[in-house]
Amino acid sequence: MKEQRSVAFHTLGCKVNQYDTQAMIEALAKDYKIVSSEEKADIYIINTCTVTSRADQKSRQYIRGIIRKNSEAFVAVTGCYAQRLPEEIARIQGVDLILGNEEKNGIASVLDQAGKNSRPEVFVENIDSRSRYDTLKVTRHQSHSRAFVKIQDGCQNYCSYCIIPYVRGKQRSRPLKDTLEEIEGLVRNGFREVVLTGIRLGSWGQDLNGRVTLATLLEKVSEIEDLKRVRLSSIEPRDLSEELIDRIAQLPKVCRHLHIPLQSGDGKVLKAMNRPYDTFYYQDLIERIREKIKGAAITTDVMAGFPGEGKGEFENTYNFAYQMKFSKMHIFRYSPRPGTPATQLKGKVREQEIKKRSRRLLELSSKMQEGFNRSFLGETLEVLVERRKESDCLTGLTDNYIRAVFDGPENLVNKIVKVKITQIEKGYVIGKLM
Ligand code: SF4
Repeated sequence: MKEQRSVAFHTLGCKVNQYDTQAMIEALAKDYKIVSSEEKADIYIINTCTVTSRADQKSRQYIRGIIRKNSEAFVAVTGCYAQRLPEEIARIQGVDLILGNEEKNGIASVLDQAGKNSRPEVFVENIDSRSRYDTLKVTRHQSHSRAFVKIQDGCQNYCSYCIIPYVRGKQRSRPLKDTLEEIEGLVRNGFREVVLTGIRLGSWGQDLNGRVTLATLLEKVSEIEDLKRVRLSSIEPRDLSEELIDRIAQLPKVCRHLHIPLQSGDGKVLKAMNRPYDTFYYQDLIERIREKIKGAAITTDVMAGFPGEGKGEFENTYNFAYQMKFSKMHIFRYSPRPGTPATQLKGKVREQEIKKRSRRLLELSSKMQEGFNRSFLGETLEVLVERRKESDCLTGLTDNYIRAVFDGPENLVNKIVKVKITQIEKGYVIGKLM
């Protein structure tokens, strides 16, 4: 019998990329031995990210490191950085194969025919020519209770700082039936929570036949027996329709957690970013959500140092974020992406200043998280038990995204239990199993 070659994966970037890696692993698992990226392997597949210049740099560093340590191994590079700059990757000595984002779907057949090359083979199609959703499937995920399910790809928003529309292509939705089948399979494999992900999740359904929206999808997913929770990953403010908010409020399996990117709390900066809302719209949206979904966690993304963000604009953002009482903020430092309109804007902010602003926002985020968690002190919340921590305690997330740590037996892993919040720590809470 032919000896199986071993394959190791490494992923950079977002949840969608992580999903893509899992899907590639499953596509190769029958014919290859999948090993961890720390182990020696015959083939390395690096799924890159290009969202910031730092992500490009990290991707290059990782590729070079793998080649240095494993000069005999076959090295394939895919993902958003490969889609954007295949020629830059091709200049790295030792890379054998470069695949664009859509070409990930054909990884099994490409790898089958590939051998070590003096020059890399490059398969990167113009992603804009894709108008139908096409992806590999997953049946499991690295974590044991929560699985990510990709239901959408691409974005046509063209926020002025963002490179994603150029590397992920047009908005494409995964068909309803296919999505439900994947979730049913995950539930059969023991997963109790699914997180629906996409590049612009809220556009799901717009390109499908029939009047289907994310609200319809949530209804159908909620009907799956033995699935305990469904969570939405990031969703754009304009995509949260009244119908969707109502459905989230009504369906008990849908988590009370929404991640709604704000990016800036200053009207002028939002306009320059080409974000299709202002702060009044955003504030009204958050108020409507909190009115209908009691105890909802609202998390967000904020960018520091966008061109034209002077001290006043930054203070507006800081104060607006404070007013919104987010339960957590992800802070991004502006990074100019060649080819995006924002690179042409005046009013560049110095790197040192961007770092300072980002630190202030991070401090605010910690305070707001503590405040949100504290508002549940003494309450009993449901927690999906994920795993044991080294400390021998159980841990898990509430539906409104609070990490709880508590004592309890191992056999509760992957079950939903009731936990009374007794103590607030930095970034998590301590509770008592009820
Ligand atoms: S909505 Fe804006 S920030 Fe998000 S992927 Fe699309 S263009 Fe990028």
